[in-house]
Amino acid sequence: MQYRATVRDTMVQQFLKVKDNPTPKAVFFTCIDSRMIPTRFTQTNVGDMFIVRNAGNMVPHSQFFPDEQHSNEPAALELGCVVNDIRHIIVCGHSDCKAINLLYKLRDPEFASKDNRRLSPLRSWMCAHAQTSIEKFEDLLADDFNKPLLFQGETPLRKFAAYIDPEKKFNIEDRLSQINTLQQLQNIASYGFLKKKLENHQLHIHALWFDIYTGEIYYFSRRHKRFVIIDEEHFDKLFKEVIVYYS
Ligand SMILES: [Zn+2]
Repeated sequence: MQYRATVRDTMVQQFLKVKDNPTPKAVFFTCIDSRMIPTRFTQTNVGDMFIVRNAGNMVPHSQFFPDEQHSNEPAALELGCVVNDIRHIIVCGHSDCKAINLLYKLRDPEFASKDNRRLSPLRSWMCAHAQTSIEKFEDLLADDFNKPLLFQGETPLRKFAAYIDPEKKFNIEDRLSQINTLQQLQNIASYGFLKKKLENHQLHIHALWFDIYTGEIYYFSRRHKRFVIIDEEHFDKLFKEVIVYYS
């Protein structure tokens, strides 16, 4: 009732405005966490974005769908990027992610055993689709987070390096969340139906990370090889990077 009384009229005007020519700017993947309100923290509105949400902001790698790609995430990519010709895909992870906290525990083989996975769809989902994130995390943990990780961007040739919180500002699970967020960029690029657009610079992939404790948003800067806070101090150089690389 509150919606009817306050928001509805403005929304109907917005629907009418974009009715014949909606031009959404991004397909936005994020977690289902109730604290994440993507339209609020990205300040987006009617017609701006396609939003896909699941536990842990995952985009399963195409290797899991060899015959028919019957999964929500690739279907959403096709609807957004092919049918609607959206040119930007954003994956947004966040701090204190319950799915990622569970993934951290799933490094224990007993906790991740077949029997336990059978009892828990969430364990099963994370084990099936976050294995590479775990491997990269272990690799970095062995080096105490000092070296950069290597990820693939839009094409196999467009690789990028990423330092994951070498200053140890975030807790260990949050670092895993940042790795997992970047891993999804690589997974997105695994889909054949996006290949041409990715190669021809018609489609770009970005990573954001939302810190639930401070409300700050980080953009992954390939130039600076790390997540950089989007604030007054860093905005200009981040904006320049986005314009130069992705326009
Ligand atoms: Zn989450």
